[in-house]
This record gives sequence, structure tokens and C-alpha cells, in this order.
Amino acid sequence: FLPKPLKLTDLTTLVAQLDRVSNPVSNDSLNSALENDHFFLMYQPKIDLSSATPVSVEALLRWKDPDLGIIPPDKFIRFAEMNGHIAPITWRVMEMAMSQLARWQSAGIRVTMAINMSAVLFSRTDVCDITSRLLAEHQLDPSLLTLELTETAEVGNLMLGLETMTRLRIMGVDLSLDDFGTGHASFTQLYQIPFSELKVDRMFVGKMHQDPNAYAIVRNIISLGQSLGMRVVAEGIETEQHQQMLLEMGCNLGQGYFIGKPMTAEDFETWFAKRCS
Ligand code: C2E
Ligand code: CA
Ligand code: CA
Ligand code: CA
Repeated sequence: FLPKPLKLTDLTTLVAQLDRVSNPVSNDSLNSALENDHFFLMYQPKIDLSSATPVSVEALLRWKDPDLGIIPPDKFIRFAEMNGHIAPITWRVMEMAMSQLARWQSAGIRVTMAINMSAVLFSRTDVCDITSRLLAEHQLDPSLLTLELTETAEVGNLMLGLETMTRLRIMGVDLSLDDFGTGHASFTQLYQIPFSELKVDRMFVGKMHQDPNAYAIVRNIISLGQSLGMRVVAEGIETEQHQQMLLEMGCNLGQGYFIGKPMTAEDFETWFAKRCS
């Protein structure tokens, strides 16, 4: 009753599988995820703080691998940016988010849609053309769309995309500067790029109730954004106290687990119905 001896082919398969577990992100695995449609979106609401009503949702990307389960974006976006996958992935995200938005529009669910965009896309691809084509295809008004921009140190300069960003704004699409305070955005960019929204990074929001310096930073980002004519969104609201403090500071919009976690489209519809009744 000895166990069957392991064959060399079994071993090779085993090693390959172990390799995938320790390093799930590769050029091959990303290509195959795109080909086999393994990406999907979760939606997290943004509410107007003074009326506590939902105004928008942010599309957050997930990768469902058949062997490894759900892989969060922090694990693969950077790699995708550096290896030429970010454009096809983003166009797929835009397609999914806009068809969802169109469905919600016709169902009377009046929210706008925010999509995360790597800065690198603005200098290297025609974001403007693709956006306007997708909006037209789904018969969506450009004002229903917000593009959230994050700049990471490695992916170059936001300024290279200034012309594209200006064209998008003229078209009526909103631009949001994400992770303000911890990203790599500078005052020059805030000054030159026509952002309509500023997002306070959740690192400060999470600490402001116990840390006077974090509180001062949040207050001043709100005031800076609003003096420049932008609406300000606080992300990472995890408690009622956070929400109350931000309301008192005059912050426009809020987002976070206390308000609503990232949800499937179906769960968002239930959440929305409850919130609006
Ligand atoms: P982000 O744009 O700053 O998104 C906010 C992240 O914080 C999300 O993580 C969200 O699930 C999480 N979050 C929301 N509320 C709370 C809260 O109250 N507490 C805490 N602790 N966390 C909260 P997620 O979905 O894992 O996304 C991580 C990052 O990946 C995003 O950060 C964004 O930069 C990037 N990302 C997501 N989807 C896309 C995409 O389609 N394209 C690109 N280029 N990047 C994306
Ligand atoms: Ca974002
Ligand atoms: Ca953010
Ligand atoms: Ca972030």
C-alpha cells in the first residue's frame, strides 16, 4: 500500500503552481486575465455630507483568478503600469463602468461615476478620444463622469497630459486629484491642471480625531481646495465621529467604510434604495 510515486510532470506542475502563489502577477497572467475577462468592478459610494445623500460611486477594480481567488489592485496596478498593461486594463474598466452607469441612469439611480486613471495614460494614449467614444456609445452625458488621477513616483509627470486633461474638462468630464497629501502631486499641478475635485487621503482622515496635526492638514486641504473652486472629498471615513468632524469642517463629500464599503452593483442598488427612502 505504498503511495503512488510522484512523476516528474506532477512535480513540474506543482512547482509552477507554487510559483504562481508566491508571485501571481506576470505578463502572462495579466494577458490571460484580460483575454478571459477575469476583471470585475466593485462600487463605493460618495455622499454629500450636508444632506447625507449619495451623489456618486467610485469604480474599484478587482481581479478574480480561478486558482488564487480575488487579487486586489494594490497587488497588480503598479506592475501593469510598468509593463504596458495599464491601457488595455483601463479601457476595460471604462467599458464596464460606463455600461453600469448607463443601466443605473435608465433605472433612475441618479449617481455619477468615478474611474481611477493612472497618470501615465494621459501622456501616452488618447484618453480624450476613447472617453468621448465610450460616452457616446453609452449615450451618457460627460458631466456624469469623473476621472480620478493618481500620480505615483515611477510613472512620470502629470503635466505631460495637461492638454488632454484640458480637453476633457472642456468636454464636461470632471477631473479629481486623488490621494492629495500623500501622492506626488505638487502645487504647480494643482495650479495648472483644471481639477474639479480634490480627495483628501485617508491617512489623515483616519487620524484627525486624535492627532491635531492630521486635523490641521485635513482642515487646510479642505480650505485650499474650496478656495481654488474645487469640491473636496474626504476618503476613509470609518466612524460616525469622522463624518461629523468633516461635516463641521465644511467638507463637501465623504466616502468610507462607515458610509458604504465597495459593493457589487447589485448590493449598491440595495444600499442606494435604503439610503434614498
Ligand atoms: P484609491 O483610489 O485611493 O481607493 C481607495 C481605496 O481605499 C480602495 O482600495 C478602497 O476599498 C479603500 N477604502 C475605502 N474606504 C475605506 C475606509 O474607510 N477605510 C480603509 N481602510 N480603506 C478604505 P482598493 O479598492 O483596494 O484600491 C486600492 C487602489 O488601487 C486605489 O486607491 C486606486 O489607486 C487603485 N485602483 C483601484 N481601481 C483602479 C483602476 O481601475 N485603475 C487604476 N489605475 N487604479 C485603480
Ligand atoms: Ca480613487
Ligand atoms: Ca484615494
Ligand atoms: Ca490610494
